[in-house]
Amino acid sequence: RKLFTSEIDFLKGVVAMDGLPPDDRPEVCFAGRSNVGKSSLINALTGRKGLARASNTPGRTQEINFFTLTDGRYLVDLPGYGFANAPVAVVQKWQNLLKQYLSGRASLRRAFVLIDARHGVKSVDEEIMSLLDRSAVTFQAVLTKADKMKAKDLERIQAQVREKLSKHPAAYPEIVMTSSEKGDGIATLRAIIAGLD
Ligand code: GDP
Repeated sequence: RKLFTSEIDFLKGVVAMDGLPPDDRPEVCFAGRSNVGKSSLINALTGRKGLARASNTPGRTQEINFFTLTDGRYLVDLPGYGFANAPVAVVQKWQNLLKQYLSGRASLRRAFVLIDARHGVKSVDEEIMSLLDRSAVTFQAVLTKADKMKAKDLERIQAQVREKLSKHPAAYPEIVMTSSEKGDGIATLRAIIAGLD
């Protein structure tokens, strides 16, 4: 039975720790700067357009969204980070929730950290990676929007990302290249998730 089908459904949006569903099954989460292409990637993975909404305003970024895969496992969409003009209070609330989630979630098998292939690893990405190190959550870098880059430039960015990952003990070395637009890397990512249990 396929993990990723149109049966994947939105379970709930969570704004505080006490709203989390019980951690009684494996889950994976997706993190990334706002506009990195996270909603597009989740929609491409699930094959359901509009399942994950693009949340492009700071006010709508506070929720941790849970989706249920066909075997009952959770796919978790973390709020986008790195808004240029987000109020300090919003950023702090988000950081607190994220810290609590990442450090206390025993069922979390892997975090996917999305990196825009055009921009490479930014300082806010580094902060997330360090938080994942401290929380001992294995994370894997996923380059997004690969279709926007020439092969030569993609190689350069990959090398930069690989170099940055080497500094993070919790980093999984393999980088996944994706394009939600063209479908590149989607099957690979599905297979990686299916293989985690
Ligand atoms: P989010 O804020 O991280 O959820 O980002 P979105 O999924 O809303 O994507 C942000 C912008 O990037 C949108 O205009 C998307 O159409 C575009 N985008 C996302 N993924 C891709 C991709 O793989 N290729 C291209 N060319 N554009 C993409």
